[in-house]
Amino acid sequence: MDKEELWQALLAQIQFNISKANFATWFRNTNIVSKDNGGVVVSVPNNFSKEWLENKYNKLIFKILHSLDEEIKEIKYNVVHAETKPKDISASQLIDNSYNNSPQLEFVELKVDKETNLNPRYTFNNFVVGPFNELPQAAALAVVRSPGTSYNPLFIYGGTGLGKTHLMQAIGNEISKKFPEKKIKYLSSEKLASGIVSSIQNRSIDKLKLLYKDIDVLIVDDIQFIAGKEKTQEEFFHIFNNLYEKNKQIILSSDRPPKAISSLEGRLKSRFEGGMIADISLPDTETRIAILKTKSQEKKLNFSNEVIEYVAENIQRNIRELEGALNRLAAYQALNNKTPDVETAKTLLKNVIFSPKKAINPDNIIKSVASFYDLKEGDILDVSRRKEIVKPRQVAMFILRDELKSSFPFIGRKFGGKDHTTAIHAYNKISKELEKDENLAEEINLIKDQIYSL
Ligand code: ADP
Ligand code: MG
Repeated sequence: MDKEELWQALLAQIQFNISKANFATWFRNTNIVSKDNGGVVVSVPNNFSKEWLENKYNKLIFKILHSLDEEIKEIKYNVVHAETKPKDISASQLIDNSYNNSPQLEFVELKVDKETNLNPRYTFNNFVVGPFNELPQAAALAVVRSPGTSYNPLFIYGGTGLGKTHLMQAIGNEISKKFPEKKIKYLSSEKLASGIVSSIQNRSIDKLKLLYKDIDVLIVDDIQFIAGKEKTQEEFFHIFNNLYEKNKQIILSSDRPPKAISSLEGRLKSRFEGGMIADISLPDTETRIAILKTKSQEKKLNFSNEVIEYVAENIQRNIRELEGALNRLAAYQALNNKTPDVETAKTLLKNVIFSPKKAINPDNIIKSVASFYDLKEGDILDVSRRKEIVKPRQVAMFILRDELKSSFPFIGRKFGGKDHTTAIHAYNKISKELEKDENLAEEINLIKDQIYSL
């Protein structure tokens, strides 16, 4: 086996061992440059890849190469820069994160398709996978393999900026590549709702039905916004059933699971729950570093590990913010012609990075709880015992205690002058229910995400 074949054989095996995104990210443009006396030198396109292969994949690479060729005893990684012309990148291009992410097609403007509303920048290749999003990613790939038959509907939920839109768009893009004949439509639930409302006003419901009739893959983003919109829900129920009966694929996203969307008709809830529900949680530090490195690589940035780690450690709850931080540092670098060090990064990112425990206060909590349960802030503080607000009140009291360690008398006063026993009761009740009710735990986590992202 010559060195070329050896590397191809290795790549073929590696593919089965790691995720597609990681494979594309770390093994793109790698090769064996030399092989002698049991030593192999692997060329990698940049320092990030080098480091990543050395630290994370070396064992695996060694195991595979050694199994293919027993003589191999040692592997070295060398950065070999591809022959690229130096690019003239202006700061505004760097700040604008809507440009394409794939290194091969850099700065080619990618347009959103008018028919499908799909943006080609969202792919599986540039979607980093970690424990926090493995399940939805696997489900997404299953849907791509056989739309309409594996998981229908696929319901993806999770906090803001964690990749729901990216993943759903990637599904659309990949299906359209694999099955060019399939008709795909992506739309936000606001778009869906406004289409329905205007067709009701214009008495053109039949036209609307026609519009959805031939769709093979319908993707509706942020479906939680149809809560409380009865007409929209009713029409959507019919659209959903029509497609579902014909085995057409439906993909939905939301900031919370169907059960937790209040003011959503029961029959829709149960439809939404009828397929696969997969949640995206928060990425761990290692994955955040991987995301930052991938994005740096795409943008041809070469920040130090300390800077990357500083960002990863301090921005924890939102991938969009990670990207934003990177763009800020990139803009600094482009304008000042030097790479930022950690001190500079601290100053530049002051506004983005905050200490959560310091930033939140009782009002944030009450606001988030109210909005989660579709209530007004005043309702939560209301002393009346309206049934539907009992639970949200208790949840708010619980979070106040749990996150801020507020005293029970303080909590009692905040909630309409109740004495501290009411607050203690609420806290104990929710604590107890949390032990057996996973949905409640989920709800509270989502509310906390919301509180910290305010
Ligand atoms: P959401 O729809 O959940 O609010 P988005 O899909 O808009 O989040 O993601 C926010 C940003 O973070 C986008 O630019 C997206 O490309 C990026 N992003 C999210 N998840 C990932 C991931 N796993 N790997 C790479 N980039 C990601
Ligand atoms: Mg989104």
